[in-house]
Amino acid sequence: MKELQERIKKDGIAVNEDILKVDSFINHQVDPVLMQHIGEAFAEHFKDQGITKVATIESSGIAPALMTAMCMGLPMIILKKQPSKILNDNLFQTEVTSFTKGTSYELTLSSKFVSEKDHVLIIDDFLANGEAATGAIRLIRKAHATIAGVGVLIEKAFQPGHEKLVSQGFDVYPLARISHMAKDEIEFLED
Ligand code: 5GP
Repeated sequence: MKELQERIKKDGIAVNEDILKVDSFINHQVDPVLMQHIGEAFAEHFKDQGITKVATIESSGIAPALMTAMCMGLPMIILKKQPSKILNDNLFQTEVTSFTKGTSYELTLSSKFVSEKDHVLIIDDFLANGEAATGAIRLIRKAHATIAGVGVLIEKAFQPGHEKLVSQGFDVYPLARISHMAKDEIEFLED
C-alpha cells in the first residue's frame, strides 16, 4: 500500500536494525484517515471469504481492526493481554512472548464472542517473529473457530514471522514490507 509506505518513510523512525517506531501515526497518535484507507485495503483483499469477525490484539491493532471491521460490516474482537492465567471456564487463554518487551502475557478470549460458527480475520500492526499472530491463531482455534487469514500493517520481512505463518498455509497480507532497517534507514521490499 503506497500511502502507508510513504508515511513510514516520512514519519517512521528506525530505532535500530530491529525496531521501527510509528507512534506519531499508528500506535500512540493515530491518523484516522490512514486507518480508514488501511481498513478498506484489508476489506478488499479479504472480501467474499465468509469472514464473520475481525480479531486483533490489544492495543495497537485496535484502530486498524476497527476500520477493517467497519468496512466489512462485521464485529471486532479485542484479544486481551492478561499478566497471568485466570482459571475460568468461560475464558480461553494462551501464553505469548512479546517481541518488543521481551516478556510474556496470557492472551485471553471470552467464549461468549467466538464459536465454531466463526471464520475469523486477524489484524495486527506489526509482524516480526510471528509470536503474537501465532498466539491469536491458537486462541481462536481453542474456541473452535477457523482462521481466514492474517492482515498486518507492517511486516519486517527480514524476521521469520511471515515464513512461519505462510508455511502453515495461512493467507498473510502485509500492507508494507520492510526488507532492511538500520538506524534512520528503512528499505521496502517493493523498492
Ligand atoms: P511478533 O509477535 O510477530 O514477534 O511481534 C508482533 C508484535 O510485537 C506486534 O503486535 C507489535 O505490537 C510488536 N512489534 C514487533 N515489532 C515491532 C516494531 O518494530 N515496532 C513496534 N512499535 N512494535 C513492534
